[in-house]
Amino acid sequence: MLSSRLPIADYHVHSDFSIDAVGSVDEFCESALKKGLVEICFTTHYDTNPAAPYDDSRIRIDGKIIPLSVEAMGRYVEAIADAHEKYYSQGLVVKCGIEVGYYPGCEEHISKLFSIYSFDYKLAAIHELDGVCLCCQNRFENCFSRYTIEKMADDYFQLIIGAVQSRLFDSIAHVDVYKKYGLKYYGDSILTIHRGRIEPVFSAMAENRVGMEINTSSLRRGHTEYYPSMEIINLARSFGVQISGIGSDAHHPDEVAYDFDTAAAIAYELFPYCDE
Ligand SMILES: [Zn+2]
Ligand SMILES: [Zn+2]
Repeated sequence: MLSSRLPIADYHVHSDFSIDAVGSVDEFCESALKKGLVEICFTTHYDTNPAAPYDDSRIRIDGKIIPLSVEAMGRYVEAIADAHEKYYSQGLVVKCGIEVGYYPGCEEHISKLFSIYSFDYKLAAIHELDGVCLCCQNRFENCFSRYTIEKMADDYFQLIIGAVQSRLFDSIAHVDVYKKYGLKYYGDSILTIHRGRIEPVFSAMAENRVGMEINTSSLRRGHTEYYPSMEIINLARSFGVQISGIGSDAHHPDEVAYDFDTAAAIAYELFPYCDE
């Protein structure tokens, strides 16, 4: 149970609609209630880059893994609406979000998706560089071996700018997720590679009113700071970028609201207007 008296919401969780997650929507909602959350927003993966040589473009529906498509998302959207009906009277608001793996050229497809379903929260994430996953345990080496650290960072931030300028999304997920395996691969310089590079990203985010999440899942990967680090959070703040929410990026019901006492205190202290 969270000790905070502030109303706390987890705005980044994956139930087993995402193929890399375990636990039903019900199990996540029960966990959220147990932990004292007032709101939970599911953000099922939507990664459809046709250039990716691996097949992440799938979704699990009723235990079966099928190709991701605009149509396939219907069952997910329905399940979240049902959960909201069920849990609202118990004090939990259940929202339907999405985490889109952004790649240049996805705009038309994603616009179509968003015109069919009205998602409550649209997160854009950069999971791949040139079609290869930079944050997957079994692929990051293949990804990073193609780049110097500078080129990797330049390309990564350029992709975020693309996502921001598409004006399709509310927020950017795990802004410095390249450090997930990048710390091991490139060493400590990964922790400062944003300097002089991330500023244009924040200018674009402020201009287009795209927010940024505080994502606590980095702590489960052995990092001492969230995605992003405090240095980056403060820099974002100086550019007028808003914190859109706090997310655990839970892929298991037990991970809901992971480290939220601390994360919420930071978010409220730095961005007292973040719940407006
Ligand atoms: Zn992600
Ligand atoms: Zn996620």
